[in-house]
Amino acid sequence: MTPVEALEQVVHYLDRARDTGFKAKAFVRALDVVRSLPADEVAQRAAAGTLTELDGIGSSSATVVAEALAGETTYLDRMESTTRVPITEGGAVYRNALRGDLHLHSRWSDGGATIEAMARTAMALGHEYMVLTDHSPRLTVAHGLSADRLAEQVGVVAELNERFAPFRILSGIEVDILEDGNLDHGPEVLSQLDLVVASVHNKLRMPSAEMTPRMIAAVSSPHVDILGHCTGRLIGKRDPSEFDAEAVFSACVQHHTAVEINCRPERLDPPMALLKMAIDMGCWFSIDSDAHSTGQLEWQPLGCDRAAEAGVPLERVINTLPLPALLRWRDESRAVG
Ligand SMILES: [Zn+2]
Ligand SMILES: [Zn+2]
Repeated sequence: MTPVEALEQVVHYLDRARDTGFKAKAFVRALDVVRSLPADEVAQRAAAGTLTELDGIGSSSATVVAEALAGETTYLDRMESTTRVPITEGGAVYRNALRGDLHLHSRWSDGGATIEAMARTAMALGHEYMVLTDHSPRLTVAHGLSADRLAEQVGVVAELNERFAPFRILSGIEVDILEDGNLDHGPEVLSQLDLVVASVHNKLRMPSAEMTPRMIAAVSSPHVDILGHCTGRLIGKRDPSEFDAEAVFSACVQHHTAVEINCRPERLDPPMALLKMAIDMGCWFSIDSDAHSTGQLEWQPLGCDRAAEAGVPLERVINTLPLPALLRWRDESRAVG
C-alpha cells in the first residue's frame, strides 16, 4: 500500500464513523500534502524522520506514512476495528441481501471521491453494481451536471465498466424535482440513463397543497424510478416537508416508483410512520447510502436497521435484485409511467 492509499484508507474509516472533527480534517490535509509530493521525497523524509517538518503533517499521519512504506498496518488495523458501522441482527438480513447501491455521488457533482474510488469501494463492500447519481444542473451549489457533462460522464462510466466487469456502474442521476413538479432534465436526457432518482431539494417548506401535486407529478413520470429522501428532513435541523403521503405513495405504487430508504444519518428518510405507511400501501423500496465519499458507502446498515424495524418485505427492496432483474423492474416501471 502506498502512503497515499494508506491515508485515503484512514480518511475512509473516519468518514464511515462520521468523524468530522479536528482529527479527520488533519488527515484530509495530510493526504493533500502527501499527494502533492514526489514519492521519493516522501520516502526520504520518512526514513529521516522529517515528515512532520512539513506543514500539514502531524505525528499520526507521519506514522501512517511510515507504516505504509514499511509494509505495516498497525495504525490502519486499529482504525478498522474501532470505526466499524454497527448493525442489528435484523438489519444484517437486509444488508446481506443487498447487491448494490442506487444513490451515490462523485466529484463530478458534490461528492469527494472519484467514480473509480466509489466503484472500488462498492466492490470491496460486496456489491455487484452501483448507480452513479450525481446532481442535476439546478443544484448549482452542488455543481449539478448539464446534459453535456452528463453525456461525458456516461462515456467515462463505460470505460470504467470495461475494466471493472463483471461489476457494473450504472449511469444515473439524482434529478431535481422543480417547483412545478417538472424534472431538471428533459425526457431526451433522462431516457439515456440506466436509473433515475428524483428528489426535492428546494422550496421544501411549500404548503402541502402545492407539495403534494409537485411530488405526484414527479413520481408519475415514466423517467423516474426512485423517489429520493421523500420528506427532505434533516434531523434536528429541518422538519419534514408537508405533503399528503398517502396520495404520493399511492402514485408511487401506481407508477412503479420505489420509495428510497435514505441511509444518511442526518436524514434517515422516510420517518418511521411514513415508512410503515409506504409498506402498508404496497410500495417498492431501495435502501441507498446517498454517499458523498467512499466511507459513506458503508452507511447502508443504518437504513437496513430501519427497514428491519419497520418490517419492510425483503422482496420489495429492489437493490436486492440481481442486475438483470433490476433492469427488468426498471423497464416495467417505465412502461407504466
Ligand atoms: Zn438529495
Ligand atoms: Zn443524493
